[in-house]
Amino acid sequence: MEDYYQILGVSSNASQEEIKKAFHRLARRFHPDVAGSHKKNDDHFKKITESYQILSDADQRRHYDIKRIVRTTAESPKTHVKEAVDFAFQGFSEFLNDLLFKDTTQTSEIPKQGPHVETQVTVSFAEAYLGCQKSLQFKVPRVCSDCKGKGWPPKHPPQKCPECHGAKVRLAKGPLPFKRSCKRCNGIGQIQTQVCRRCNGSCLFTETETIEIEIPPGVNHETRLCLAKKGGSGFHGGERGDLLVQVTVEPDARFMRHGNDLKVTAPISMSELLLGTQIRVLIPGDELSMRVPAGADLGQSFRLRNKGFASVNKGNRGDLYVTLKLILPPQIPDSAIPLLKALAKIVPGF
Ligand SMILES: [Zn+2]
Ligand SMILES: [Zn+2]
Repeated sequence: MEDYYQILGVSSNASQEEIKKAFHRLARRFHPDVAGSHKKNDDHFKKITESYQILSDADQRRHYDIKRIVRTTAESPKTHVKEAVDFAFQGFSEFLNDLLFKDTTQTSEIPKQGPHVETQVTVSFAEAYLGCQKSLQFKVPRVCSDCKGKGWPPKHPPQKCPECHGAKVRLAKGPLPFKRSCKRCNGIGQIQTQVCRRCNGSCLFTETETIEIEIPPGVNHETRLCLAKKGGSGFHGGERGDLLVQVTVEPDARFMRHGNDLKVTAPISMSELLLGTQIRVLIPGDELSMRVPAGADLGQSFRLRNKGFASVNKGNRGDLYVTLKLILPPQIPDSAIPLLKALAKIVPGF
């Protein structure tokens, strides 16, 4: 399955405007008239066009996003949490429209999965490195338990339309009689006499739910985790939708992340740098010991393999890069000056 987002070089939550811009930019570059026509280029141009066609159409994009999320689930069956699946949120009103206003006579009893729900969680840099558990509170649409998602009180089901008697159409009078949709019941054939008080006829109500979620070690900023079947409840026995959790990782001035590599700076004194020493390196939630050889270069990074971020996608763990930062004494006592002068004379470059 092609990754249309990747082909256009946009993120999977890119706006229509961004998608259009990316397409125009690439189309100008790879158009056969500009780049020359040969198989490799033609194929690429075709892919760009195809990507744009799908992603610029809201319906096609949503279907594509769903396929994409399903594929990722299948590829990582072990964890119910999967990384970076940008999923076009199926708008709630759209979901309702689908559910309530499509030919309800045929679809009303068909099980339908509940809507996907989006929420967000903030974790510290150390929590992203180590992984953590978070208590998450979010609003979730539930099928109304009073009316079982029908919208009317059980004792007052819809009545046959008195105007068309359930036929949905009426014969319009005139010189040329023709059938038109019944206005009284809007062509449904039934009239709802009362609405459910609890949900006000919307079939749903919103509840606040709290769950504990597992944030996997190595989670990245703006990753979207998908918790299958934790979203809005399904209709007529359908499954719950998914819960999509956007992760925000707070920065930490002491650390940097680059891909799955972790970068830190460790302080070192002049004498330690010249003579070599064992230093302590602070990493999120821990400290490591590292040997610095005599005369180490300040510009050099020391690499400690597999001490970086874990890979959420079962890839390789990143490395840790330690850069030394020279800390000079805040002041030099007078008594030390002759010694330093003497050193400067006997040690070239001191
Ligand atoms: Zn109700
Ligand atoms: Zn009617």
